[in-house]
Amino acid sequence: MSVAALAALRTGAPATERLVDTCRDLAVPVVERIADEDFSTQWQAMADLGVLRLAAPDAEPGPVTRSLAMIEGIGLAGADPGLCYALASQIFGMQFPLRDSLGADAWRPVADVQRGGMLLCHALTERGGGSDPFSMRTRARREGDGFVLDGAKTFITAAPVADWAIVFARTAEGRSPFALSAFLFPLDLPGVRRGETFTKTALPTVPMGELLFEDVRLPGSALLGEEGSGLAVMASTTAWERSVILGYALGPMQRLLARTADWAADREHFGRRMGASHQVAARISDMAMALHRSRVQLYAMAARLDAGVPARQLATEAALTKISVSEDYVRMTEQAAALSGVRAFLPGFDLVTDLAGPMAALTYAGPNDLLRVGVARQLGLPVEN
Ligand SMILES: Cc1cc2nc3c(=O)[nH]c(=O)nc-3n(C[C@H](O)[C@H](O)[C@H](O)COP(=O)(O)OP(=O)(O)OC[C@H]3O[C@@H](n4cnc5c(N)ncnc54)[C@H](O)[C@@H]3O)c2cc1C
Repeated sequence: MSVAALAALRTGAPATERLVDTCRDLAVPVVERIADEDFSTQWQAMADLGVLRLAAPDAEPGPVTRSLAMIEGIGLAGADPGLCYALASQIFGMQFPLRDSLGADAWRPVADVQRGGMLLCHALTERGGGSDPFSMRTRARREGDGFVLDGAKTFITAAPVADWAIVFARTAEGRSPFALSAFLFPLDLPGVRRGETFTKTALPTVPMGELLFEDVRLPGSALLGEEGSGLAVMASTTAWERSVILGYALGPMQRLLARTADWAADREHFGRRMGASHQVAARISDMAMALHRSRVQLYAMAARLDAGVPARQLATEAALTKISVSEDYVRMTEQAAALSGVRAFLPGFDLVTDLAGPMAALTYAGPNDLLRVGVARQLGLPVEN
């Protein structure tokens, strides 16, 4: 089965499906050309394709749907999953919230990211942990009209190569909802240093690293929202991210299904083709079901955002979508690995299966265990993190 045969599973709005196909066709030669290039070259090539450009809010299909379709298209073309993840993370977790939720002042200084010459990162996690934002030690103290920032952010996607960062810091003590603030600033300010770079088993193409801040003087204009509104900014960026970031997996999921179905259809086993086994066929159907569920949910979230529903109102649905798609991605990958036998674990083989990439989705953008706690709390259970 070719990836094109998967069209039977793609029955969304015709204009959106056409966009996915157009983007895939445009991306195929580019993806082949950049396969062995470094991350920055790959990023610029995707920017040149227009993947980082946000459509106008009144575009048809809407801007979030368009961006999701483009990410799916480049994934279908075979773009590296780490690159797709990094693009989805910046577009949905930073560009859209900065443009559509955090006010014109937030977007203006970084609007150029759409051309690719400049990269953003979202710096929340610290070495001591990421799940509990109130454990953060990075501090910003008022000085005149501005702030002085001290601390460190660790395990940050793109930190080694980013030009600007959204950084969360404590501006008051304790666990009050107003103890945190968010800042947006360029990483060439005096006092900012790049710390350790981490080699990852998951999504290794996109670098991960640490940002160190020592007496960094930030102008008042670097503050996103008001002093003390860091938690609200975080609620916005994370709701956007959880709604659609897993769109990065739609292309890789389809390629995985196509590849596994081909293998099961052709391989001779026990004197017949492997796909003649009902158990094998059921695994393939389960993979298709996981893909179908994920696709429907992600495009439904994109449609809600395009309809102008504020991301923060979608927090619970965003969490459910993130949990559901990430866990379907993991289950689907397990099915593929099971059907591929030993070849799943041999890097030189076409059937080598990346389990670490899908597994990482259980952790980033909010660990699923903690998201479940949040959903149950919304349903009235007296449960805290
Ligand atoms: C690929 C990748 C990219 C990332 N990119 C970024 C980035 O760009 N910016 C950024 O700021 N961070 C980033 N992170 C870090 C990520 O946000 C954190 O890993 C995440 O917030 C969890 O923090 P932690 O790893 O310290 O886990 P911990 O806080 O130590 O939690 C580990 C696990 O313990 C369990 N657990 C802990 N507390 C509870 C509880 N109260 N209830 C139930 N279960 C609990 C959960 O299963 C949880 O997954 C990235 C992570 C990955 C894997």
